[in-house]
Amino acid sequence: MPELPEMESYRRLLGRLLDSRAITDLQVNREKSINVAPEAFRRQLVGATVRTIDRRGKMLLFLIDEERILLLHLMLGGLMVWGTEAERPQRTVQVEIAFGAERLYWVGLRLGYLHLLSAEQAEAVLRKLGPEPLSAEFTETALHRLLQGRQVALKALLVDQAVVAGIGNCYSDEICFAAGLQPSRSCDSLQSAEVARLYRAIGAVLTEATAAGGYMDVPLFAGDTTTGGFDARCRVYDRAGEPCVRCGAAIVRRDVGSRKSFCCTACQSGDGI
Ligand SMILES: [Zn+2]
Repeated sequence: MPELPEMESYRRLLGRLLDSRAITDLQVNREKSINVAPEAFRRQLVGATVRTIDRRGKMLLFLIDEERILLLHLMLGGLMVWGTEAERPQRTVQVEIAFGAERLYWVGLRLGYLHLLSAEQAEAVLRKLGPEPLSAEFTETALHRLLQGRQVALKALLVDQAVVAGIGNCYSDEICFAAGLQPSRSCDSLQSAEVARLYRAIGAVLTEATAAGGYMDVPLFAGDTTTGGFDARCRVYDRAGEPCVRCGAAIVRRDVGSRKSFCCTACQSGDGI
């Protein structure tokens, strides 16, 4: 599932592609992917211009005008492709929006969605999210407070969108590795020095992954050399059996609750002391 780095990378790339371009047409092939009747969706969007694109957590917000926001959550398996009619993806397209000769295609939207919301409705959705981990408000002290007294696994806390927004299965493992902490560590067992390492790891991993275009390597458009650049740089995620880049021991898959998780048991601290 795309996480903060993937969506932030999409936001930056789409910002350049959609810059001040009006929506000229759209097609909804799967009504469940949107939240209003297709005709109303069409009526409200065709002719409008995407003023700007924001991101919150794993969601993108296409700001249409003062009152309307198109909120995108790709969830598991959702993908976007930008291109001409000739570059149409060779898969079932659920929704497509045309900007002149080029279109933005959505495929794999099973759980993912595009919801047309008022500013108030969007705010009600966003209010449920925790802080942005790369924002100024997310300080080391704030992280310390979030961890205090929580008898849950570190990974479970990191992926909880109500606690901190935008981190999922991949980056929670990468952050734990960078911090030298096992994903199964109980949050309330972390010492101050470990919280400091965790805080630095969150910033470093998410910043590096965003700059590298995230780990999901399906190009957004023909000639896109940015998207997916972090895939080769993942240190532990989906790397069971490969040698740890820090100590050489084999990376192991050790699920946390029902979540797939990877770590190095040799150099990531698993005890509570
Ligand atoms: Zn190691």
